Amino acid sequence: MTTAYSQDLTFSRHLFDTYDTYRDTALTHRRFKQADILPLIDRLKTDSRFDITKVGESVEKRPIQMIKVGTGPRKVLLWSQMHGDEPSATMAIFDIFNLLRADGEFDEFKTKLLAETTLYFVPMLNPDGAERYQRRNALDIDLNRDALRLQSPESVILKGLQQSLKPEVGFNLHDQSTRYSVGHTPKQATISFLATAYDEARNINPVRERSMQLIVGMNRVLQQFIPGGVGRYSDEFEPRAFGDNIQKWGTTLILIESGGYPNDPEKQFIRKLNYVSILTALQAIATDSYKAESRSEYNTIPENERYLFDVLIRKAQIMRGGKPVTVDIGINRYEVNVGNAATFGYRSSIDDFGDLSTFFGIEEIDATGLTVSPGQIHPDTLRSLADLKKYKLDSLVQKGVTTFRLAAPSRATTHLAPVHLLQPTTSAARPIQTGRIPTFVLRRGNQLRYVFVNGFWLDVSNGSNKLGTGVVE
Ligand SMILES: [Zn+2]
Repeated sequence: MTTAYSQDLTFSRHLFDTYDTYRDTALTHRRFKQADILPLIDRLKTDSRFDITKVGESVEKRPIQMIKVGTGPRKVLLWSQMHGDEPSATMAIFDIFNLLRADGEFDEFKTKLLAETTLYFVPMLNPDGAERYQRRNALDIDLNRDALRLQSPESVILKGLQQSLKPEVGFNLHDQSTRYSVGHTPKQATISFLATAYDEARNINPVRERSMQLIVGMNRVLQQFIPGGVGRYSDEFEPRAFGDNIQKWGTTLILIESGGYPNDPEKQFIRKLNYVSILTALQAIATDSYKAESRSEYNTIPENERYLFDVLIRKAQIMRGGKPVTVDIGINRYEVNVGNAATFGYRSSIDDFGDLSTFFGIEEIDATGLTVSPGQIHPDTLRSLADLKKYKLDSLVQKGVTTFRLAAPSRATTHLAPVHLLQPTTSAARPIQTGRIPTFVLRRGNQLRYVFVNGFWLDVSNGSNKLGTGVVE
C-alpha cells in the first residue's frame, strides 16, 4: 500500500503548505468565547451545502449548534471543547469549514469527501465552560465523566446525537497538558491519540480496530511536521467517559489531544496540525484507504509520560545550615484567569527539588557552579500596583531586584510586569523549596548570572530571557 501512503503524505503536505489561505483569521488565540464563534457559524448559512441545527442548550441556555455538510453514506460526528479550556480543535474546525467553502485547488478532494461522507460538527460542546475558560460546565460537572449519569444537558445532547445518528466514526477533540512527554524523552507530546478502550480488558473488536488504523495514518502524516512529537494516551478503561462509551455503543472513536509545542503558547501551530490530521483522516474515511493499515503499528506510538517541567535548573547549589547542597529545581508555570477569563497571567511553582536527572525541561538551565540566593527587595514600598510605572523595571531586574513590597493589600494575583510583589503580611525570608514561587537569583561567586521572577528568567550575561508576567503573593 505504498501508493496510498505516499498519496496521504502528498495530500497532507499540500494542506500544510496552503493552510494560511483557509485559516480563520477571526480566531487568533485560545480564549475566545461562544459569542466569537456564533457569527462564524451564521456565515455558513449563506452556503446551501451547510445545514445548521440547534441541537440543544447548555446549562446557561447558550445554544449548541450542529453543522452538517455532505451527503454520503459514511456518517462522521466531530465534537470539540467538551472541556471549556480545551479550544485548539474548535479553531481547526472553523479552518476546515473555510476549506470546504472555498472553490479551487481542493475541489477534487471535497467532491469525493462530500459524496462519500456526511460530516456532523459540534464545535464547543461546553460554551459555559469556555465562557469561564474552565474544564467543567456551569454545574461544575466534568462532561467527560457524565456519559452514564447524564446530569448535564450537554451530555444528553452528545449521547442523543450518537444514538440518533449512529455515526460510523466519531472524533472526540481535546487539549492535554503541555507537559506530557513522548515516552521517556524530552519531546513534548504535541498531539496524542487514543483508540479508546470499550471494556476493562481492553479488547479489540472491529470498531476499535478501525480507530487504531485511522490513528496509524494520522501519526504517519504528523511525523512529517513534528518528528517524534506524537504520543499515545493510556487506554485504561474509564467507565464514565464519553470516548469509552461511544466506542462501546458502536461508533469508531478517535481521541485527539492537543498538547504543547515550543514557543506556541496560543497553540496556533497545533491548531494547524489538527486541521491537517483531521482532514487527512476524513479523506481516509471517504476512500476506505485506512482499512489497509496494520493495527499493530498503533502500539509503536510511544505512550504519553510525565517527564517534563516548564523549566529545569540542573545542578544548582543551595546553602543549607552553612553547607552547600546540589539540587535540580523543577519549575512549572500555571495559567491564572484574569477578569472575565479573556486574558491570563501566570503563577509559577517549584514542583520538585533534588535529583531530577531522569527528567527534562522544556527550557533547561545548567547551573553547575552557580548558587541560588534570594533576589533583592527594592527599598521602596509601593502604595499600589500602578506605582510600578515609576520604575525602570528592566534595569532593576538586570541588577537582581526581583521583589517589591506593597503597602496595602491587593486583590490581584498576577500582573504584567516581571516583578514579584509581596502583600503587606507576606514574609520575604523563606527558604527555596517545593511549593514556593520561583523568585531568586543564581550567582557565580559574587557575579550575578540568572534572575528568576515567578518562574520566568533573565540571563544577565547575554540578556537572553524568558521574562513573563509577575505575581502577587
Ligand atoms: Zn479534555
